[in-house]
This record gives sequence, C-alpha cells and structure tokens, in this order.
Amino acid sequence: MTKSASDLTTLTIAEAHEGLTKKSFSATDLAKSYLAAMEKGRKLNAYVLETPEKALAMAAASDARIAKGEIGPLEGIPIGVKDLFCTKGTRTTACSNILGNFVPPYESTVTSNLWRDGAVMLGKLNNDEFAMGSSNETSCFPGPINPWRRDGDNKALVPGGSSGGSSAAVAAMLCAGATATDTGGSIRQPAALTGTVGIKPTYGRVSRWGIVAFASSLDQAGPIARDVKDAAMLLRSFAGPDAKDTTCVDRPVPDYVAAVGKSVRDMTIGIPKEYRIEGMPPEIQKLWDDGARILKEAGANIVEISLPHTKYALPAYYIVAPAEASSNLARYDGVRYGLREPGKDIVDLYEKTRAKGFGKEVKRRIMIGTYVLSAGYYDAYYVRAQKLRTLIKQDFEQAYASGVDAILTPSTPSAAFGIGEKGSADPVEMYLQDVFTVTVNMAGLPGIAVPAGLDPQGLPLGLQLIGRAFDEETLFSLASVIETEKGRFPVTERWWG
Ligand code: GLN
Repeated sequence: MTKSASDLTTLTIAEAHEGLTKKSFSATDLAKSYLAAMEKGRKLNAYVLETPEKALAMAAASDARIAKGEIGPLEGIPIGVKDLFCTKGTRTTACSNILGNFVPPYESTVTSNLWRDGAVMLGKLNNDEFAMGSSNETSCFPGPINPWRRDGDNKALVPGGSSGGSSAAVAAMLCAGATATDTGGSIRQPAALTGTVGIKPTYGRVSRWGIVAFASSLDQAGPIARDVKDAAMLLRSFAGPDAKDTTCVDRPVPDYVAAVGKSVRDMTIGIPKEYRIEGMPPEIQKLWDDGARILKEAGANIVEISLPHTKYALPAYYIVAPAEASSNLARYDGVRYGLREPGKDIVDLYEKTRAKGFGKEVKRRIMIGTYVLSAGYYDAYYVRAQKLRTLIKQDFEQAYASGVDAILTPSTPSAAFGIGEKGSADPVEMYLQDVFTVTVNMAGLPGIAVPAGLDPQGLPLGLQLIGRAFDEETLFSLASVIETEKGRFPVTERWWG
C-alpha cells in the first residue's frame, strides 16, 4: 500500500488494518491523518469533543503491540464515539445541558470492546439530545452538517439523526468508523442520508451498559461505517454477552465478515405492501424496485408480503418511547451529577435544574411519557401501545414463518433535507422520517441500511433489509450484493477543507 499520510483517511477499516499489519504506515501516522482531517472539518460540527492526546497515546500503544506482533481485529483503527456512550475520564453529555460536564467514572461495554480489539478513540460525536430526533437539530451543541449538498446548491443539509455526528464524520472521513445507537431509526436513517452503511442489531445482541438510556426496551447500539465489510468488522467487536446488561443475550458472535459477499441464491425476500405509503416520492419507489431487481438477479426469490399493523408502528412508538424516556430521565435531578440550579428547597432545585437543563424536544417527550403512564390514561394509551407492539412483532413472525429470509424496504421516505426545514411547525413531520425503521425496533429485529442510489438532486438514498432475530449475517450478505452492484457512495466534493 503506497498511501501518503494525507490520504490515509480514504482507506476503509479493512484496508487500513491490512496496511498496519504490513507496516506500510503506523497507527500513529493513521491517527495523525484523522486528527488533521478533523481540524479541517470543524465546520461540519461532527465532533463535540476531540481527544487528540488520547488518540495519540492509544495509537502509540497500538504501535507497540504491532511491533510485538500482537494485532487485534481493529488494531490501530481510529473511531469516533457518539456522545451517548460513557467514556471513562472523557466528558459524556448525551448532547444535553443537563449532563453539563459529566465525566463518567466507567467505560461503556461497546467502547471497552473496541479498545480491547485495538481501536483508537478520536473523540465524541454529536447527536440529538438524548438521541431524540431525526436531524440532530435537538443537540445542545451546534448541529452537525451533512457533507453532502444538493447539486449546484450550497444550502446546508442535516446528516440525519439522532446519530448525525456519527454519519457526518464517517461520510466526511473524519473517522474510520463510528459508534451509534438506534431506538427508532437513529443508525439507519442518518446512514441513509449520508451514503454510509448502518446496522441496528437484534435487541440483545449488543450490550447497552454504559450507554445513556433513552427507551430501554428499544435502544440498541450498532456501527456506522463506509461499507458493508467495515460494518461487519465493527459489529463483530460490539457484539457479545455482557453480565452487566441482563437484556444482552449469551450467544456466540458469528463471523460477520465471512457473511459479506456470500451467495444469496434461493433466499426469499419479502416486499411488504404496507410500506408503499401514500405520497412516496417516485425516486424512492424506483430505488426500492431496483433493489428487488438486484437481489432477484443474484438468485433470490422476491415475494410480496403483508405486515398489516405497520401503520400503527409510529403512533405506538411515540407512546412507548416517551413513556420509557420519562422514567429513564427522572434520574437527572441536579442532585447526583450534571447541571445543578440552586433552589429554595429540594423541589425548587429539581424544577429549576430540569427546566434549564432539558431542551424543548426532550421536555415534550417527558410530558407525553408522563401523561400516557398516568392513572386514568395508562390503559387507554400505554397498554394499547404495548398490545400493538405485540401485533407488529407477530406480523414479522408470520412473514418469517412463511419462509421469508429477509425483508426489503426503503430506509427513509426522503433524502437529506435542509437545516430548519422540517418539524418546527409540526413535530410529526420530523417523526415521519422513521416510518420505515421504527417497526424494526418495536419488533426487536435487526435492520441494515445500505446506500443504493442518488435522488434527482444528487443526494444519497438507502435501502433497508430487515432480518430474523439474530440473523445479522443474512443482512450482511444481502447488503453486500446491493453494494457490489451499486458501488459505494463517497461524498463527491470535499467543500469543507
Ligand atoms: N427519531 C426517533 C426519535 O426521535 C428515533 C430516535 C432514535 O432512534 N434514537 O425518537
């Protein structure tokens, strides 16, 4: 490999790992290239905290291991960490003022696994406050900007959310790969809006320990990466049993990388008719048809299926997720950590701290959640939403029982949109971004978003593949078929420096 220091950031994780193993360059060279790219890319607001000293110290330790021939599966690979993952000794805010300058005394399991495998931390990435949002505009920091722009137009676009710092940083090559989380779509939607690959694993596949909780029965961590193989390499490190999270399942982690490029001949792919929503833009329908054609040409059988409760998924999600959030966020009271606003008594302190610390969208969720859980409304809202959740899950179970191996849908109903363009008058406009992704969280299933085309304005669009529980391997195989046909979608113009 004959890459100069300046273009080391263009290497995929797999390529960088090979270069490091062959000693074509050092982990320190690689980390320095990314640190320089991050500095140039500051106007993208992808990072909320850069940790160059830590990056260089970890890279030096990695070089020492490489010199001894101890090469981990992610040895020397520079990673950006969503600011929802606790990092020991490094500020973690969930992009909320209420956490203030919280410095965790412990490390999340996901990031511990990455460092165990040799990866290097570059810094903490922007996200929507407490991961609530689809555009990263609810962050208490200036919002990240999508490195993609519409053809012939300089308007700043959102990189999706809530993992918008992760998607922007991966697409702009400000990290080799990133951690992300997905409660209703926050890995897949930002990946789709930036031409990157994101996978939300099965609920229970990855430990949630040390990740700031939003809605605990839906939250799941996964990677955002530049291509399918890199996503597989990262998930292999993220996944695995963890005694610290009782919802994390004790089953072996398959070799996801081996699933990339595997034949999909004779697989059966379901096309759910209920996802053909009213007003779907023609380019999304075309993308979807194209995806089905590619999989068919690769030998898969394409069948139409029905997931009849799909239309209830979004409304049910906006009861279940806020209900759990209102309970999870009760811990931010100004007493134990984070922001504290003094008050005349303890109740006054709580009220002042919470009023000042939480942003508008988070307050809205807490109020909705408290309302749907309150005596008198609990049965009408929360219990009914839980029943719908069961029906949604059963729709998928029936499809899989009928012989379907995976389900193909668009990832999002639109390409990236402008900052301030959606949701200010009606929050539901923003919530609709997740219309194709929330069903998957409600059912606890794995879903991958893979870039598959450009819209008429030159912006990337993604396809989603939904799998059986714990069958991420099939998703990697199918996504790699689409990737092989369509190619990768690197940002065309590095306008930010
Ligand atoms: N956009 C959805 C929400 O705002 C999902 C967010 C997420 O997956 N974290 O709740």
